[in-house]
Amino acid sequence: MIGPKIYETVADMRQAVDAARAKGKRVALVPTMGALHEGHLSLVRAAREHAGHIIVSIFVNPTQFAPTEDFDAYPRDSDADLKLLAGLGVEGVFMPPAKEVYPQGFATAVSVGGPAEGLESTTRPHFFGGVATVVTKLLLAALPDVAIFGEKDYQQLCVIRRFVRDLHIPVTILGGPTVREEDGLAMSSRNRYLGADDRRTASLIPQVLGEAVERITAGEEAATVLAQGMARLTQGGFTVDYLELRDAETLAPVDPKGTNAARLLVAAKLGQTRLIDNMSVARPTTGWR
Ligand code: AMP
Repeated sequence: MIGPKIYETVADMRQAVDAARAKGKRVALVPTMGALHEGHLSLVRAAREHAGHIIVSIFVNPTQFAPTEDFDAYPRDSDADLKLLAGLGVEGVFMPPAKEVYPQGFATAVSVGGPAEGLESTTRPHFFGGVATVVTKLLLAALPDVAIFGEKDYQQLCVIRRFVRDLHIPVTILGGPTVREEDGLAMSSRNRYLGADDRRTASLIPQVLGEAVERITAGEEAATVLAQGMARLTQGGFTVDYLELRDAETLAPVDPKGTNAARLLVAAKLGQTRLIDNMSVARPTTGWR
């Protein structure tokens, strides 16, 4: 099995992208922070449907972690990651050292509003600025035809679609569905933090989401359903940051008269581990309540 080529500099990655284009290949970028699991791999497989040359980036981005968060503890396992990517026939892996991405004197940031407001930003105000800056840099560094992100991080996907449009970044952004464990828990590199008991409890998140989606779609009043969902999560041992129904595209509060689909989003902590998840909600035939 021939492994992917590894690039540590933007210049080397660009050269590879140019060479692929010269051979008439379309290029896809799949940005990740490594510790790869089936969720990431599903994005790589989706990328293959759009491109003959796939680059996966692996970079644990320091600017999206607050000093109190898990940057140092974040799982890193590049040997295992490279084996998985070789198995999928990925052509290139961009693994820059931090000083390649943020050289001495770096003084620029991408500032995002709109879908970045509220939800994650309430608890993690630094987060989307860090994500928008690094994703902008990755997109401009590789200039792929398409870049693929997971719906698992739904607010992040909305924020990326927004700033890519706003900044005229010439890359098509695609979303991939959330890959789940057998009990429904959304796959996440952070699931490795969960002990056996917490891991069992964690499946309450997709249960609560799934039931709430059914009840809201059946026409029950969202506020009542969400309050009950919050109570169940709290009783189950979670500290809930939010459980909210939002417009699926803008992430603004749902307009009761609107016809758009909605998204139900949750973030909750179990011990020290913070889990996020979301599901789509079709508009009830009787309208939003
Ligand atoms: P991360 O390494 O956590 O930054 O994630 C890299 C990419 O993989 C992001 O676009 C995530 O949304 C996506 N991703 C993470 N977990 C999943 C999952 N369970 N299903 C689908 N995509 C995922």
